[in-house]
Amino acid sequence: MATLEIRDLHVRVETDGEPTEILKGVDLTVESGQTHAIMGPNGSGKSTLAYSIAGHPKYTITGGTVTLDGEDVLAMSVDERARAGLFLAMQYPVEVPGVTVSNFLRTAKTAIDGEAPALRHWVKDVKRAMADLKMDPAFAERNVNEGFSGGEKKRHEILQMELLKPKFAVLDETDSGLDVDALKVVSDGVNRVREGGEVGVLLITHYTRILRYVRPDVVHVFVAGRVAETGGPELADELEENGYDRFVQAVTPA
Ligand code: ADP
Ligand code: MG
Ligand code: MG
Repeated sequence: MATLEIRDLHVRVETDGEPTEILKGVDLTVESGQTHAIMGPNGSGKSTLAYSIAGHPKYTITGGTVTLDGEDVLAMSVDERARAGLFLAMQYPVEVPGVTVSNFLRTAKTAIDGEAPALRHWVKDVKRAMADLKMDPAFAERNVNEGFSGGEKKRHEILQMELLKPKFAVLDETDSGLDVDALKVVSDGVNRVREGGEVGVLLITHYTRILRYVRPDVVHVFVAGRVAETGGPELADELEENGYDRFVQAVTPA
C-alpha cells in the first residue's frame, strides 16, 4: 500500500507581477486503492494544487510538505515524480509536435519502468485499452494533442493512466467539456483503474455530475486555498443539491 500525504501546503503564484498566496495550508492524505474527490468553486486553487504536486515551475512552494511513502515529492524533478508513481493529467494538456500517441506512451512507459515494455504484450495492452475507451485505432498514429477534441484529450489522459499504472493519479477537471456518452466512457476508465485496488485517484472537479458514475470514497470541499470540509460520498450529494454557498460564506468576511 502507498500513501500520498500533503501537509500544510502553502503555494504562491505571480499574478500581475505580485506574488499571491493561492494555497493556504492544504492537508490531505490519500491511500492507494482509494478515490478522493476534491470539489470546489472556480478559482479556489484546485488546479494550483494539481500543478504544485506535478512540479510546475510557475508555482512556488512557500511552506508544507508533499510526501509519497515518506519520500519528499517536492524535492523531485518532474521526471522523478513520474517514476515514483505519480500521474498528473493536466487540465490543459500541451501539444507535443511530431510525437505520435503510440510513441509517446511507449516512451513514457519506458521512462517510468526503467526498461522498455515487451513489445508483444505492450501492443496488445495498448489495443485493449484503446478499445475499452472506444478509441479508433488510428488515434495511436496521431500527434499528441494536435487538434485533439476535448473528448479525445480526456480519453488520452485515461489511456495514459491505464497503461502507465501509477500509484497515484491526479485528474484535474477530467470531466469538463464532455458530453454524457464521453463522460460515461471516461468514468468507466477511471473505475477500471480503481478495480485493481492499487491506484489512488484524486479526482479534482467543479461539477458533481462525474460523481454519479465514479463514486468516491472520500469527498473534500476545497474553498479559498484549503480543504474546508471532508466527508463521505454524501457530501457530494449535498453539493449537488445546494452548491458551494455554505462553504464560501464561511470563509468570506461579512
Ligand atoms: P481552480 O482550479 O479551483 O479554478 P486555480 O488554481 O486555477 O483555481 O486558480 C486559483 C487562483 O490562482 C486564481 O485566482 C487564479 O487566477 C490564480 N492562478 C492560478 N494559476 C495561475 C498562474 N499560472 N498565473 C497567475 N495566476 C494564477
Ligand atoms: Mg479554474
Ligand atoms: Mg482548475
